[in-house]
Amino acid sequence: MEKTVLITGASRGIGRECAVSFSKAGYHVAAVYNKSREAAERLKEEIGCDIYSCDVSDCAAAEDIARQAAKRTGRIDVLINNAGIAEQALFSDITEKMWDNMFNVNVKGVYSFTHAVLPYMIHEKYGRIINISSMWGQVGASCEVHYSAAKAAVIGFTKALAKETGLSGITVNCIAPGVIDTDMNAHLSPEIMAELAEETPMNRIGTASDIARTALFLADEKADFITGQIIGVNGGFII
Ligand code: NAP
Repeated sequence: MEKTVLITGASRGIGRECAVSFSKAGYHVAAVYNKSREAAERLKEEIGCDIYSCDVSDCAAAEDIARQAAKRTGRIDVLINNAGIAEQALFSDITEKMWDNMFNVNVKGVYSFTHAVLPYMIHEKYGRIINISSMWGQVGASCEVHYSAAKAAVIGFTKALAKETGLSGITVNCIAPGVIDTDMNAHLSPEIMAELAEETPMNRIGTASDIARTALFLADEKADFITGQIIGVNGGFII
């Protein structure tokens, strides 16, 4: 039977690459975006997915999207909580608004979509939840305290939820990417990117497909003994 994957932040970067890769692997894709409507429309044309727009921190919208995404087969087999924002600022310059926004998107967004999708997975006694954190959630980044704290929260979320859902046949795992070549790093100069590549044992910057391939692996039915894990996909940048 055709499987359905719901991916947040699917209009660009890692989420888009996941959408294309899962579609190629035979999944029906429900792609969630926020502001990049044209990019989402292009993705829809390219892979024939369904697209839905919302801010991931909007719980009512997440429930509505999950309901619509489940209509096709009655199931949502895989959820990829990928939507996220990053921001660089000295801790003393992080305002309450910046802090709340960082946590609303990167943490509440994981709560809202997981909360909306989980009932469908529990009903089927099957599911794969894949959260996208960051290596900075593992080791902390200077001038990114709010981002690092939010991504660390996603790691805690993953470990705790995995303990609740195992008996329902649902695995919950986390990918912690290193430096990946997407819009999120577009502000970094080619020189800085070259330095980061040099600091990486595998001697290159990561690609969105490095992450999409890992997500496909974790989504596989046979990956059913892997849960609550944080998989670093960082070329050895942190070990
Ligand atoms: P990106 O290219 O900037 O894309 C971000 C995606 O998230 C876009 O599709 C965007 O949608 C969506 N998004 C942002 N805010 C949203 C909101 N409030 N509601 C719904 N969707 C929202 O970023 P990326 O590099 O692919 O990052 C994807 C994930 O990987 C993020 O969680 C990020 O923290 C994590 N990550 C990235 C790196 C890296 O080096 N790139 C490293 C570690 C972790 P619209 O464009 O439609 O608004």
